[in-house]
Amino acid sequence: MVESDPRRSIPRTDSLLSLPEVIAAGENLSYATIKSIIAEAQSAARAGEITVAEVAPTIISRLGSSSASSLTPVLNATGILVHTNLGRAPLSPAAQQAVLDASGYVDVEMDLVTGKRSKRGTGAKAALLRACPAAGDALVVNNGAAALLLAVTALRGRGSAAGSTVGTDLAAASDPAVVSSAVSPTEIIVSRGELIEIGAGFRLTDLMTTTGARLHEVGTTNRTHLTDYANAVGPRTASLLKVHTSNFRVEGFTSSVQVSELRGLADDHSLPLIVDLGSGLFTHDEALPDEPDIDAALRAGADVVIVSGDKLLGGPQAGLILGRREAVQRIATHPLARAMRTDKLTLAALEATITHTGNPVHDALHIDLDELRRRTETLAEAVGATVVPHDGRVGGGGAPGVPLPGWAVELPEDCAAALRTGDPTIVTRVHQGRCLVDLRCVPASEDDRIAAAIARVLAANG
Ligand SMILES: *Cc1c(COP(=O)(O)O)cnc(C)c1O
Repeated sequence: MVESDPRRSIPRTDSLLSLPEVIAAGENLSYATIKSIIAEAQSAARAGEITVAEVAPTIISRLGSSSASSLTPVLNATGILVHTNLGRAPLSPAAQQAVLDASGYVDVEMDLVTGKRSKRGTGAKAALLRACPAAGDALVVNNGAAALLLAVTALRGRGSAAGSTVGTDLAAASDPAVVSSAVSPTEIIVSRGELIEIGAGFRLTDLMTTTGARLHEVGTTNRTHLTDYANAVGPRTASLLKVHTSNFRVEGFTSSVQVSELRGLADDHSLPLIVDLGSGLFTHDEALPDEPDIDAALRAGADVVIVSGDKLLGGPQAGLILGRREAVQRIATHPLARAMRTDKLTLAALEATITHTGNPVHDALHIDLDELRRRTETLAEAVGATVVPHDGRVGGGGAPGVPLPGWAVELPEDCAAALRTGDPTIVTRVHQGRCLVDLRCVPASEDDRIAAAIARVLAANG
């Protein structure tokens, strides 16, 4: 019986490796990749998931799929500008070019005139400082969470004997009360209304306490006053932290303390004031009137402001720290900064994002509504569907609850899965039993491909 088991005749690895298609694939794919594709097909046959006859065709088809990585480019028809599941901000054409240019050997840490080692990221930093004149210095790290971790770790106020102040408060250093206190400053004072979870179960509170810091929560969920912060300041206080509640909104009987008010308290006690803004608007944007910006936060007195590179800024994943020179320097020279160092591709993309136009996030936010309506109507007409009003969103933890009014093409709900798994891959919004196609974040040059894809799906669904 065992002898007649067809699984015994599964093609051997050496014979599969000598198939002409497999040899040809070896021009591009590594030997290890090819071997594992072969092994997977053999074990699928062994498990009875495919027949013995299907082994070679399965391998050939998998070797032939042309993309270099398993990431699939997606047309974002959700109307959500910064969609974390879709990689947040798409890069501008200039940023894409910059990534390509920087992907080989590049002078990221070399002065080509002298041939000597130079500082990493000077171009990106200069661009940031030009975009944000209120900042005395800037540092780029891997993401916003890293920037926050680094800032609260490196900036600790006057509580300890060893800890010097962020400011040039020489009096504090000779203050006997400070010198005699052996306690180290580990407490970060933060409002209970600002203890946010940033998604996928990550809480800023957990993040910060991993550094050995302790959060000293003040106020209540809906209301926090300056006196709450003032009463909490003590010998263990390391810093004052203000976090923009980027992904939710508390409405009704609420009150929070402004950065400018916290500045006064920070000065009274020589404490660093750290402001985490989440999204990265450099200056006020009329389209998002309640979204705070870096310029205003710095002018109001933040020592450092932290933002993400890939939210409203529309750049690569990065954490930007902008602020007073001494504070940024202290953060930049902390040993932990090396573990969060940005790579050359990010620095290149970030600089290009800041210095060039054509930013997809910015353009989608400020889209010409007449043009969006015309495109939506054209698409609806082409596929025989109707246009409905539809609000886009900033998403990705920015401007919660702020609608971006526009339109969408309405389709039956079951179109969503077919569009998502088709070519081109189109991600739509499924809402109240409908599939909504919002063109706000879709390049106009893709409208025809979207129309053709929808027409195919509707025809297949009968
Ligand atoms: C998004 C966000 C973060 C985390 O930034 P990442 O770049 O995602 O690491 C931190 N704080 C706030 C307020 C945020 O909105």
